[in-house]
This record gives sequence, structure tokens and C-alpha cells, in this order.
Amino acid sequence: MLQRNNVLRAISDTTWGCSPSDLRSAYLAFSRACADYAAGAWMPGLSESGLRELETVQRQACRTITGCVRSTPVDALAREADLLPFSARRRQLAAVAVERHSRDLPDDPVQRILLPENRPRQRLRYDRGWARTGQELSKDAGLDDFPREPLLVVANTPPWESPPPPTIFFHTGLVRPVPHNAPAEQRRTAAEETLAGLPNPDVQAFTDGSATAGTERGGAGAVVYRSGREVKRIRAPAGRFTSSYTAELLALRETLKYIESILTDQDPALCIQLCTDSLSSLMRLREGPASQTERAADQVWLSLRRLGRRHRVDLQWVPGHAGVAGNEIADAVAREAAELPQDGIPITFVAAKSLLKRHVSREWVESTRHSRPAPATRPHLSHDYHGVVGPGRVRLADRLGLSRREDTALVRLRTGHSPALQAYRHFIGVEEDDGCPTCGGGDREDAEHFLTSCPATARVRHDVFGRDDPTLREVFADPCRVIEFLRRLGRL
Ligand SMILES: [Zn+2]
Repeated sequence: MLQRNNVLRAISDTTWGCSPSDLRSAYLAFSRACADYAAGAWMPGLSESGLRELETVQRQACRTITGCVRSTPVDALAREADLLPFSARRRQLAAVAVERHSRDLPDDPVQRILLPENRPRQRLRYDRGWARTGQELSKDAGLDDFPREPLLVVANTPPWESPPPPTIFFHTGLVRPVPHNAPAEQRRTAAEETLAGLPNPDVQAFTDGSATAGTERGGAGAVVYRSGREVKRIRAPAGRFTSSYTAELLALRETLKYIESILTDQDPALCIQLCTDSLSSLMRLREGPASQTERAADQVWLSLRRLGRRHRVDLQWVPGHAGVAGNEIADAVAREAAELPQDGIPITFVAAKSLLKRHVSREWVESTRHSRPAPATRPHLSHDYHGVVGPGRVRLADRLGLSRREDTALVRLRTGHSPALQAYRHFIGVEEDDGCPTCGGGDREDAEHFLTSCPATARVRHDVFGRDDPTLREVFADPCRVIEFLRRLGRL
């Protein structure tokens, strides 16, 4: 891992190079992937010193990703890079392993270890083992009371039959490409043109899945038209804990099931058109029946193959929330479906995994909230950053089009460890005192003084933020203005 981290440094520095989100992806795929290999088995039982070594390597990557200085508090660093420390992650991995094995075939030897009477004797006090750690976490996350959906061990279509029938067509794009942030009107027109370009459908359906915050209270909805007339609105609950992906698949599955039920052997060969706004589920389905790992996807393929024998089936992606009539109805129906009783719906492995991940991240964020930064660099806002800027921290630079230099300056101010601040320079011993050199008023020049209260820069601050005394939270809520403020003071 250590050597692989060098790659990150080769493609970036604090003033040039890839964006933080690209660097983070590179770290996950190229470097952390080494530690992840069979991690569910060994990481939960790793000794403290082994864990420390891993954390050190990850912290080095965090600094490269964010551009933070070496002295940055570890919690702030991990939050800025949006990387869960291994100490928290190993619990998550243990729970995922427990989830996996509690869904396997009943004679799975690993599953037997999970039963309390078969638990191996605990040899070391600190080593709780993956099974116990994982089971405790599953319970904390509230997964204990849910029926589990068994894993799909082998897809119902054998690999040699995997090439889909030539009558099934996946369309994952529009006739003319429209950027996803284009105005709704433009995206709607492009979608309508695309649909008009397909063979005229005898049966058309729009499907949609919804999940609150992407993981809770799922609903699957669809609207079906036959010869242009609406014939059915389908509502199905998708589970108390679910994922948007699962909900989308369930919507497709229920719709196909309904279409199969209304078609008879007397029907001639028809054109069936399914429209969904979930690109990820279409792309995944397109990989073929033998590549599916979700039960719902497997069932979708079984229906598709049955229909494909006689009819032509087009699966078309349409942009969501663009005003496409059928899609809007499906969206509303899916949200209604989410309100249906959700009892007894088994939780899928994918949904359990994402729930555990969210639970562990939340626990860890809570635990860092009360950690105290070094007095010399207080206050810093990284801990509260999620509250200020919202999720997707590392993508902020991409979203706002910040340069690497600008992003680094921002991150450093947020953590309080910025060479631009006199208090920090004093902290590392390169300045004799920490008083603000700009106003000379004897106040410490920390991030708060510099950004919110230094009298010497009051006019610029008023121009940029519209106030003389904004709070640190208000200031960081608008990163572009912070950049402008730094620019006008010549600090960037
Ligand atoms: Zn000052």
C-alpha cells in the first residue's frame, strides 16, 4: 500500500494535479484494494500495532488527497478525505461477512460458526473475532429483526444460455446526448425524440423506484399503457431497509410480471417498451442474465427471456425529473408505494451492506464530533463540515470548479492547520508570536480571526460576505466567497 500511495503523489501536488475526488478513487481502487483483499476474514482480528500501521498508510493517502499538512488532526483529516479509518471499517467488514454467511445454504460450514453454541473459544481478551464483532454490529444497526433474502448463489440462467434473445434491446442513451444538468425542458424534448424513434409500442410502461435517503422505506411504482391507454398503476413496497437500485429492480420485476399476466397466447408478436430513469440498473441488466447477483435482477431476466421468445422488448433509459409524463407518474406512484406496510419484506444483501456502512460511518462521525483539536489551531470546522457543506465533501472541488490550489487553501483553513495563518506558523515554531500581523491588535490570527473578525480586513469582508461579522459556519457555507476573500487579500 505504501508504495502504491506514491502513484497518488506522482499525479498531484498541493498546487496542481488531479482533483480530490479522482485521487480518492485512485486510492480506493489501487491502494486500499490491497488491504481489502479477504479483509472480512483477517482485519477484524488484527492486532492494535498492525492496525496502526494500516492507519498510518491511509493517513498519508488522506494528506495527498486533501493537501492537508502533516500536523492536521487525524479525525479532521479522515473527514476531509471522506475515508473511514480502518478501526471503524474492520467492524463494518466483519458485519458484512456475518450478513453474507447468514444467507448462505444451511449446510454452509461457516454459517455454523455463527450459532452461539458453536462459537470458538475466545483466546485473547482483545480479539473478539469477526463473528461476534459482526453480530453485535448487525444488532446495533437494527438488522436483527429482519428476514434476510437468501443470496443468489447461481443465476437461474446457465452461462451458455447467457447471450440474451436477439429481441431484447437495451438503450442506455438518448438520440442526442444532453448533459445531466441541462434544463428539464431540453432533457424532456431529447427523451421524447428518443422514444418517438423506437418502434411504436403496443405495451409501454414507465417504472421507478424510490427510497428515502437512498436506503430506507423503499417503494416500487410503475404505470402501464396498452395501445396508448393507461391500464394499470403498480405499487409495491420495497422494504423498510433497501437501496434505490433494489427498488428500481423491483419496479421492473413487478411490471414485467404484470405484462406477462395480461398477454395471452392469442396475441400476435408485440412491441413492449419499458422506460426507467435508473441508468445503473439498466447497465447492470445489460451485462446478461448469468452476471446478475440480485434475486430481483435474476427474476427480471427470467421474465425478459419468456417475453423475448415471442415479442420485441425495448428497455430505454429516460432522464428523471425532466417532465416526461410517464416518468413523472411512475415517480409519484413509487413514492405512494413507499408508504405501504413494509413488514415481512426480506432485506437484500446489498441493502444490508449499505445500511451497515452508513451505520458505521455515522457512529464514527459521532465519535469525532467530541474530539478536541489542538488548542493552538482551534477552532476548526472539519468536524462540522458535513453539516455546513453537505455530503460529497471530496467532490466539492469538481462541483464548484475549484483549482487544486484553491481547494487546498480551503481545506487547510477548515482544519485550522494552514501555513497562511500566523497562529499555525507559531504552532510549528517558525514565528515567535501568534498575534495577527495584519491588524496588529494582538489577537491570535487563527481561522476565525482571519475570516470573521480581523478589523483590518473588515471592508473586504463586508464586500465579499455582505456582513462585517459572519460566523465561521456561514463563511464556509459558501466556499467560492472564501476563495474570493483570499484573492482580494492576496493570500492565494
Ligand atoms: Zn487581525
